[in-house]
Amino acid sequence: MPTDSESIYGFVTSHKPDAGGHFGRFGGRYVAETLMGPLQELEDAFNEAWSDEAFQAERIRLLQQYAGRATPLYHAEHLSEEVGGAQILLKREDLTHTGAHKINNTIGQGLLAHRMGKKRVIAETGAGQHGVATATVAAMFGMQCDVYMGREDMQRQAPNVFRMRLLGANVIPVDSGTATLKDALNDALRDWVASCQDTFYIIGTVAGPHPYPLMVREFHVVIGQEARRQCLKQMGKLPDVAIACVGGGSNAMGLFHPLRDDPVRLVAVEAAGHGLNSGEHAASLGTGKPGILHGNLTYLLEDSDGQIEGTHSISAGLDYPGVGPELAYMHEQGRLELMSATDEEALAAFQQLSLCEGILPALESSHAVAAAIRMAADMRPDEILLVNLSGRGDKDLNTVCEKLGMGGMESLT
Ligand SMILES: *Cc1c(COP(=O)(O)O)cnc(C)c1O
Repeated sequence: MPTDSESIYGFVTSHKPDAGGHFGRFGGRYVAETLMGPLQELEDAFNEAWSDEAFQAERIRLLQQYAGRATPLYHAEHLSEEVGGAQILLKREDLTHTGAHKINNTIGQGLLAHRMGKKRVIAETGAGQHGVATATVAAMFGMQCDVYMGREDMQRQAPNVFRMRLLGANVIPVDSGTATLKDALNDALRDWVASCQDTFYIIGTVAGPHPYPLMVREFHVVIGQEARRQCLKQMGKLPDVAIACVGGGSNAMGLFHPLRDDPVRLVAVEAAGHGLNSGEHAASLGTGKPGILHGNLTYLLEDSDGQIEGTHSISAGLDYPGVGPELAYMHEQGRLELMSATDEEALAAFQQLSLCEGILPALESSHAVAAAIRMAADMRPDEILLVNLSGRGDKDLNTVCEKLGMGGMESLT
């Protein structure tokens, strides 16, 4: 007899990478020799945990009692009517503890670290959202937590630095390179080379060396598993289209994976920043080329000298110069449709959703909403468009109000 959570969440892994962690030609393990052993140990520990009923039961318990799952699937009737096309459904990851999908992953990896007897976790963070989600579970499991963050990002995302510190984490400023996410990634990997005996490296998206892209996907598929069931139950059929924004690709893979064998169009939305031709964007799939970043082969943004390029997006969480290898693979296989949204379009979508549904979306998620609005307008009212609302907008209030000319927080007197 399957348990209740097994029947909802089904723990059988489909679409596995090959033994070396390759999705087609992407993925793999491009790391220092000293990390090959620890990565194998991690892969073995993950495989063992994944097929252990007790691990799954505890993980699901935490997702439900601590993170607030299942998240609702909301039929946004007002927005659908205003747009005048397809029915728009929002998967409300913004309602989870810490306000974004990232907690699904850090609960999974935190629990695995705990099971492996690790006393310390490390993480890299750009916008600070993954750092906060990591510090959160480290506090809950009683593990020491060090988070690498570019000094530039620390300034831009000060509230998240305070959150991490209040949760007991140590935020380590990174000054190398451009002092942003790509530099923090390097420092976190370097720390792990020296500390892997007692330290677990919690990666924040479906990237990194094998088994991270697979493991992080598996921790996020709860999103798509719930949404698929909810859509069938609430609407009587599957969605026609599923849309998610892509930074590294974890909320997208979480939504897409359980729908990839269904006749559902999967649409990945990248950050077009000031425009795809401006040189200031983060569209790694749409405009990048294959190369090695963060220990795996994938699409990335690099200049003609092979240097990783600086990225730009109004949403710090989409500012990743690469993309998960499995998304690169699905893109080459033709299973994905690519779209992008500019800063301006994301901002307009933020406002439209706020005013017409009373939901302030994260700026990352606003990119998916912008693409959804554009697409839905050309669809029929009996068609369904499912959008992953990956996070809530509270963290972005300052940015949004400044851009809209409402003044920053300081101006409120
Ligand atoms: C981090 C973040 C993203 C981007 O990360 P993915 O791995 O691409 O999902 C998207 N939305 C929110 C709210 C985030 O915090």
